[in-house]
Amino acid sequence: MHEKCGVVGISLTDRDAARPLYYSLYALQHRGQESAGIVTHDGFQQHSHVEMGLVSEAFQEGDLEPLAGSNGIGHVRYPTAGSVDTCCAQPFSVSFKSGSLGLSHNGNLVNTDEIRDELANLGHAFTSDGDTEVIAHDLARNLLEADLVRAVKRTMNRLHGSYSLTIMHDETVLGVRDPQGNRPLCIGELDDGYVIASESAAIDTLGGELVRDVRPGELVVLQPDGTGYDTYQLVDRDHSAHCFFEHIYFARPDSVINEELVYDVRRQLGRALWAESGIETDAVMPVPDSGRSFASGYAEAAPEDVEFAEGLMKNRYVGRTFIMPTQDERERAVRLKLNPIRSTVEGKTVTIIDDSIVRGTTSTQLVELLHEAGAEEVHVRIGAPPIVAPCYLGIDMASREELIAGDQSVEEICAEIKADSLAYLSIDAVAEALNKSKADLCLGCVTGAYPYDIEGEQTDREVSRPSVDQASADD
Ligand code: AMP
Repeated sequence: MHEKCGVVGISLTDRDAARPLYYSLYALQHRGQESAGIVTHDGFQQHSHVEMGLVSEAFQEGDLEPLAGSNGIGHVRYPTAGSVDTCCAQPFSVSFKSGSLGLSHNGNLVNTDEIRDELANLGHAFTSDGDTEVIAHDLARNLLEADLVRAVKRTMNRLHGSYSLTIMHDETVLGVRDPQGNRPLCIGELDDGYVIASESAAIDTLGGELVRDVRPGELVVLQPDGTGYDTYQLVDRDHSAHCFFEHIYFARPDSVINEELVYDVRRQLGRALWAESGIETDAVMPVPDSGRSFASGYAEAAPEDVEFAEGLMKNRYVGRTFIMPTQDERERAVRLKLNPIRSTVEGKTVTIIDDSIVRGTTSTQLVELLHEAGAEEVHVRIGAPPIVAPCYLGIDMASREELIAGDQSVEEICAEIKADSLAYLSIDAVAEALNKSKADLCLGCVTGAYPYDIEGEQTDREVSRPSVDQASADD
């Protein structure tokens, strides 16, 4: 199950957390459109509202009032083909012997089945097939035997994969980032409290200040009175495995992730793309909106006579084409979504810039559209390396067979999308723009070797699945 989502947790001094949580879910809406939810705690009991749909559909005005309490967590969930189901909407909440628990998860575990089997054998009953419920049960069980910090550590020692979590244990809000920091998570300060969120754009929306990223393997515990927070470095690893694709495609350009502003990284990638494979055409145009920051960097680096043109117009009321279930629908949807401006294209040589090619639907359709609109030549430049393998860590990226670069060379792909030329960016340029060594990035989808032990796949470093044996998870 791919869980590419947005999470948030807030503790305030003297006002209900529901409304700021609701606004921060709006700020994180791009990270998930399938369902949205908030769980709060008022000091006595938990309150929950979780519904399918966009934030604007899941919450009506009257829904926030019953969510009493100055502490709470929220979640937006990414749609995945076939699993549109309220059972997996989050935050997940349970009450158990030592209190109530709420959980929001972004990422994807790769050893869920082992832990679920072990817990099921101990009598735990599961209501969904999602990772999040497994984490909740494991934590609930550990909380029976250990204090909060030790219980979280024990659970972290058993999980393998990607997780940025916001958790609520009774009225205490926690943030946890997996030991390799695969998905983003950051801490922010408000005038009257603290926030933990997937992206700093959520903190900006609340008028707060970004304090810093949550470190890989770190637990952050917000004080329920909103006056501060404690941090615990629970698991250490020599290297991180930050997902580079967050910066390429997924995160908002106005977010700062792993200390880098996403917009600046994308522009730098665009400049690097020009340096590596620039071609002088009459016009350079972004594929809106995903290629925009890349194209502005690329055009900036190009000679002045290469004109930056907004030659493709986007119908903003059409959803992301990627999630359309059939290829035929996806092809039609590209035309529904993007339309060329004839005068910027007719009789000209053009370069279109996008962030990535997954199945190849968008670029194939756009090359054809631009030729129909009278372009003489259509060149394609991509601000990421070819995506050759699936993502198991939380980005819904299609299966290996569906990936156009899965078993084809760049020349073959160029022929298939009928472009006059095609070039991707190198992996080295990505690492450089992110200011990270390759050893601190997860590059699985562009190398086919992962920083996690995934069945049937290669690893790019020394990694092993933790034993799910409870005793060995102790510190
Ligand atoms: P495709 O048309 O299948 O080649 O997909 C490429 C287009 O989808 C590009 O415009 C990307 O911006 C966008 N894209 C890339 N990755 C994803 C993803 N994981 N989910 C949704 N859209 C994506």
